[in-house]
Amino acid sequence: MERGSVAHAYLLIGPPHFGKMTLALELAQALNCEGAQPPCGSCDPCQKVASGKHADVQVIGLSSGGNSNNKPRTEIGIDQVREMQHSSSLPPFEGRCKVFIIDGAELMSNEAANCLLKTLEEPSEGVLFNLLTANDSVLPATVVSRCHRLELRPLPTPQVETALSERRSLESAKTELLARLCHGCLGWALLAADDDSLLQRRAQLIERLLEVIRGNNEERFDYVAQLAAQFSQNRASVQEVLDLWLDWWRDLLLVKLGSSDTITNVDHEAVLVEMSRGYSLAQIRAFINSIQAAGEQLEQNANPRLVLEVLMLSIPGRSAV
Ligand SMILES: [Zn+2]
Repeated sequence: MERGSVAHAYLLIGPPHFGKMTLALELAQALNCEGAQPPCGSCDPCQKVASGKHADVQVIGLSSGGNSNNKPRTEIGIDQVREMQHSSSLPPFEGRCKVFIIDGAELMSNEAANCLLKTLEEPSEGVLFNLLTANDSVLPATVVSRCHRLELRPLPTPQVETALSERRSLESAKTELLARLCHGCLGWALLAADDDSLLQRRAQLIERLLEVIRGNNEERFDYVAQLAAQFSQNRASVQEVLDLWLDWWRDLLLVKLGSSDTITNVDHEAVLVEMSRGYSLAQIRAFINSIQAAGEQLEQNANPRLVLEVLMLSIPGRSAV
């Protein structure tokens, strides 16, 4: 914007809660702002964009543009893209620039993506498209090539901590914990600050993890049976368990290497220190590899029960090292 060269379409890439929508909305504000330093956040257009009431700024996603049979949408349909195209051909209603934000662009049907392609190939003046996605590899290459690609990077932990303490008044230990747990994803930290159930769930998962590590094979296989059943309903929740395991074992590695100040689970440092004494560095590294391999195999649709049983069998045995 400073250089006066805003593209007509951006592809913003990053995991959930990474700031894609925030950035897209701030860009929409900046392009329509009436303040001296856009986006000022306080002028009428800026406030309208923030509250979703600006006539020239539209968000298209699974929850927008109600469909005829009232079923929840599972993809962004061609009807939504057509409606957006029609609207983009009209001049701005109240602002200077029309901004269309496609939230979850990877969820566009093939028809919808092809239809959008025509608009991206012949951009109109004063219209900006922002496509938000967690995974650009599933978008048609033709669509990606018509957009300016912006990959959002995780924020460094100290920066998350500062941003979080500016926005929420939490105890400093909790601010630090959330800043570590979010892995550079400020949106998640803010969500967890407002909703205690996220930290409660984590506490339950850690409790279970400790039981499983200390348990015998029978207890471990019971847990696998539970997870495998869960997997058919909700894959993401099993991936969440694996992510937590990965964090835990990475922490053990860091503690073992004498870098306790960089661990994620800062509230469990004493347990980690004690546990790390029972394993060699090679054992910890090997198990980290096993967790990563299990995650990849699940993604490739391997049998979840088998994958998780193999993972349980590779939990290293504790010895006095
Ligand atoms: Zn403004």
